[in-house]
Amino acid sequence: MRRRRHAKIIGTLGPSSNSRETIRKLHESGIDVFRLNFSHGSHEDHARTHAYIREVEAELGRPIGILADLQGPKLRVGTFADGEAELVPGARFVLDMDETPGDASRAPLLHPEIFAALTTGAQLLVNDGKIRLKVVEFDDTSAVTEVMVGGTISSNKGVNVPDLYLPISPLTQKDRRDLDYALSLGVDWIAISFVQRPADMTELRDLVGTQAAIMAKLEKPSAIDHLEAIVELSDGVMVARGDLGVEMPQEKVPVVQKRIVRAARQEGKPVVVATQMLESMIHSPVPTRAESSDVATAVYDGADAVMLSAETAAGSYPVEAATAMNRILIEVERDPFYRETLNAAAPQAGDSAADAISSSLGHVATVLPLAATFTYTESGFSAFRAARERPEAPVIGCTPHMITARRLALVWGVHAVVSDTMTSIDQMVDNAIGITLQEGFGELGMIIAITAGMPFGRAGTTNMLRLTRLKELPPGGSAELYLGQTL
Ligand code: PEP
Repeated sequence: MRRRRHAKIIGTLGPSSNSRETIRKLHESGIDVFRLNFSHGSHEDHARTHAYIREVEAELGRPIGILADLQGPKLRVGTFADGEAELVPGARFVLDMDETPGDASRAPLLHPEIFAALTTGAQLLVNDGKIRLKVVEFDDTSAVTEVMVGGTISSNKGVNVPDLYLPISPLTQKDRRDLDYALSLGVDWIAISFVQRPADMTELRDLVGTQAAIMAKLEKPSAIDHLEAIVELSDGVMVARGDLGVEMPQEKVPVVQKRIVRAARQEGKPVVVATQMLESMIHSPVPTRAESSDVATAVYDGADAVMLSAETAAGSYPVEAATAMNRILIEVERDPFYRETLNAAAPQAGDSAADAISSSLGHVATVLPLAATFTYTESGFSAFRAARERPEAPVIGCTPHMITARRLALVWGVHAVVSDTMTSIDQMVDNAIGITLQEGFGELGMIIAITAGMPFGRAGTTNMLRLTRLKELPPGGSAELYLGQTL
């Protein structure tokens, strides 16, 4: 099965979709990567879902990516004596470290790290920003605030502190347990919330090593202040618009979205646009016009992937949501203006052999009508660089490692295949021809551009660009070598 589009789709699994049958339907309808959301569900739930995805992968013979999304720290107010209280604009409201249930004058906020970081004038947002409090004065265990936007405040509602840098790790004890578990399952990507600074990604990388690729969810203003450094230290990034829209004014979110997509494209790191993309499809079988337009905008901007959250996890129309998103992507990519906008934002090549080869590949694809570009890749890096060029022809990413193929499921334009490590140039060319024909990317006589590294089988050696025509292969050739592979 091959997709007729370059941009990818991530679908979150949950009660509406975590059966084997629905996972298969979702994949057939367009989901390239499945997201296991560790904010919900038990380890047993995730293990079962993970096994179903791998079964569907084996049935359909295509590598499927799995992204484990860690919850991260959740800041919350404590409880209220009556379950809730009414806050009036202009009134004073105290937050403190006292566990006694709250009322309209005070409430517990059992997070010493917040008091340690407070500044006068800082804002505390409660319940997704519905209630806004401004700090008037504070000490180590309490803060007097002025109610800027009032309303009903109730027990355990979430708190955001957009103006503050909190000296805490993005990984809680729960996240560390979830991370170990997700890695033991063999997921391909790990996403973390609450990233505030570049060192947060280093901390995650030290724990993950090479077991999975790591993704920063960009949702805090402090992360945007360090955007380029965070992108550099991550394998991919997510525009986490849900929290971003609480942590900063709504009207800034589209601007920041474009900035993140540009920064990630420049670095050649996959970028995902997430949250509320087809939100109305939680309850409706069709999206609104504005939602279709939002998805299309992300694709025109050059995002690698767009994500479905509650639409597929908890909605009534998970398969319809995947189908609708798939259709929007295909339609955008048919538009000649899509190519123009991608080319207009083309990133500069870096001064490495891999970039010299991949930017030449991008150029070749504009000069010759290629059936496909074919990239041999060990770690996936060369396929990331080829995708960064956003070539018109599909990027076949050929790797001996299933782990690499699954990671590439998230990357713009990459159709990943698993094949043995090549031992000679002739075999490398024949293998590329065989796979291109086999996967339905071209017909006899068409041209493909192949990139590879010599010596074969070693990461970081990309140094070769070869053009060849698709031709009949002798019996017993490399195409059979590929067909002999199983997942
Ligand atoms: C978001 O905030 O947009 C997001 C993707 O994270 P979560 O689903 O964990 O809220």
